[in-house]
Amino acid sequence: MDNIKKDVVAAWGRVHLYLEKKLPGHAIHAWFEPIVPTGFRNNSFVLEVPNQFFLEWIESHYRDDIIMAIEKTYSEKIEYKFLVTKEKKEKADSGISKTSFVETKPKRFNNLNLKYTFENFIVGSNNEFAKTASESVSNHPGEQNFNPLIIYGGVGLGKTHLMHAIGNLALKNNRDLNIVNITSEQFTLDFVNSLRKNKTIEFAQNYRSADILLIDDIQFFRGKEQTQEQFFHTFNVLHQSGKQIVLTADKFPGEMKGLQSRLLSRFQSGLSVDVQPPNFEVRVAILLEKADQNGLSLDYSTIEFIARHIKNNVRELEGTIIRLLAKSSLLNVEINNRLVTEVVKERVGGRIGNEVSIENIVKKVSEISHVKEDDIVGKSRKMEIAEARQVSMYLCRNIMGTSLSNIGMFFGGRDHTTVMHALKTINVKKSSDARMNKMITSIRKELGFSFL
Ligand code: ADP
Ligand code: MG
Repeated sequence: MDNIKKDVVAAWGRVHLYLEKKLPGHAIHAWFEPIVPTGFRNNSFVLEVPNQFFLEWIESHYRDDIIMAIEKTYSEKIEYKFLVTKEKKEKADSGISKTSFVETKPKRFNNLNLKYTFENFIVGSNNEFAKTASESVSNHPGEQNFNPLIIYGGVGLGKTHLMHAIGNLALKNNRDLNIVNITSEQFTLDFVNSLRKNKTIEFAQNYRSADILLIDDIQFFRGKEQTQEQFFHTFNVLHQSGKQIVLTADKFPGEMKGLQSRLLSRFQSGLSVDVQPPNFEVRVAILLEKADQNGLSLDYSTIEFIARHIKNNVRELEGTIIRLLAKSSLLNVEINNRLVTEVVKERVGGRIGNEVSIENIVKKVSEISHVKEDDIVGKSRKMEIAEARQVSMYLCRNIMGTSLSNIGMFFGGRDHTTVMHALKTINVKKSSDARMNKMITSIRKELGFSFL
């Protein structure tokens, strides 16, 4: 045991070696190589992992394997404990301890999700103003005209993220602040329970003692008259005493239906900022960040492919990354192009294939090869024409997975063996002939399939 303490890296290395023999290479690569053994305390290996998702994933999928590997490597009863490596930024800031113990559930303070920070919020023209206003509110709560601050916009665009980031930064600035952070649903439930238990005074006191009140998704108050009434009074008490209020909503307050007009007019006395869907560059940046957070390295072309197809919702972008990790691990396969296409297809409801058609492919091939479309689908055996036809067939199969007989039918009623021969020919040429390789790459790129 003392030996383990002395050289924990070597000691864990022996366990790792055992795991390598038992688990598939991609699992070792994705889940075990990123682990950094940092100590041995209370008879446990202390193992650092990059993030909470990683921690939960490895615990739920590989716990038995790890226990078994330790048992087989050491005769004593030895345990292990994962720690999430703190954000790089925090490390630099504190300079003292690099890690902190985390429970299996995300660590929360006042219900604030510590994962939601300004540092990991990617800014683009779609959300820049919302982020700046939010940061300003965390640095000067209640001091400006931004009270209430209302962050509004569609689903999955970062409203909750910003609201928690406000709470997290405000607390970092001042540990003593009483931050009450709640969803409208919880607020309503709390209120109803206080009515039931005759504790409305405690309810009111609880909320009115807040220095910063954060309420998520206030559209949930729609049509709930008595809750709105309570909220109105809470709002007034806090507002009058200069406490900061931050709300999120699905719509601009002026367009909200089912909320009392006196509430809406209060909302309009503050600042409303919107979050919009991210543009292409912002989507790429978000994907890079999320892949990094999840310890996943993806080719740029893969990232670009995902960003081209998943457009409206940041949660979906994140979901795609997590789904990729999950699938590759569950199915024991590497993250390859096929898997990426499959996952993206699932998420956009199979629309990928619909965006390109055989006609489209032929049109592009015609543009690039200068062979007429009619000739490509015709009978001529002239060399350039036959080649353009073969390239088109190849791309139909490769991008859309069209069946050999359908391809044959479209290209002048040819037999499936002719199509097979075309695919083979192009495959060979692609690796031996730089011109062919370049042509195929550029057609794919134009069709939005650069990475396949
Ligand atoms: P909303 O509350 O608007 O429905 P969330 O704040 O829950 O959306 O965001 C959904 C997910 O997308 C969260 O995991 C959040 O961290 C992430 N997200 C949203 N916008 C951004 C952004 N600009 N940068 C990084 N992550 C983001
Ligand atoms: Mg939300």
